[in-house]
Amino acid sequence: MPDKNVKADIIYICSPNNPTGAAYNAEQLKEWVNYALENNAVILYDAAYEAFIQDDLPRSIFEIDGARECAIELCSLSKTAGFTGVRCGYTVIPKELSRGGHKLHDMWYRRQATKFNGVSWAVQCGAAAVFSEEGQKQCLENIAYYRQNAKIISDMLDELGIYYTGGRNSPYIWLECPNKMGSWEFFDYLLENAGVVGTPGEGFGECGKNYFRMTSFNSHENTLKAVQRIKNII
Ligand SMILES: *Cc1c(COP(=O)(O)O)cnc(C)c1O
Repeated sequence: MPDKNVKADIIYICSPNNPTGAAYNAEQLKEWVNYALENNAVILYDAAYEAFIQDDLPRSIFEIDGARECAIELCSLSKTAGFTGVRCGYTVIPKELSRGGHKLHDMWYRRQATKFNGVSWAVQCGAAAVFSEEGQKQCLENIAYYRQNAKIISDMLDELGIYYTGGRNSPYIWLECPNKMGSWEFFDYLLENAGVVGTPGEGFGECGKNYFRMTSFNSHENTLKAVQRIKNII
């Protein structure tokens, strides 16, 4: 929730979130939009994981009234369609968004037109294919596959009684390290005793020091193997 006593000019929101996997609902996003409108702030909304949303949650900040006057949305095909190495992302800047008498859309357009030579044609063809009927079907199938991995991991954590967020509307699961371990301590413990790697929470900043991020981006076979090995050592 926005702190009404703090004045921000730019607000970065990533929902569904990396690393916590948490996702905002419409009411919560509305509070941020209202804050931005009242304080003349601009929201940079990172929707990189929107394709993983399955509950009734906004997939875009522009589903919220007023967002076109205060928000920029960033998205990428990296997670939606496995474009991490291929590279294609996009930015949505509504023409309604002005600050200091300038339309941010015009400033961005000028920047893109003069300083960026564009995404290669072959990659653009791949990106267009993502939005075809067949492309959407294949991407959704892939995401459903990863979602099953997330379920396998969260079922294990439920069984072990370990606190976590995410895994439902996001490919990541953010868990509290068991037995009060630090995030690097838990990383070493998993690596040495189970041969499993994850991401120590501290990699995302000081607040992550007792947390750990697990990913569903792998095969069912490897996920099941990792879960079995983790169960054996916790
Ligand atoms: C992966 C990711 C992106 C997309 O990055 P690309 O440079 O397009 O691969 C954006 N935001 C977050 C939080 C991500 O995890």
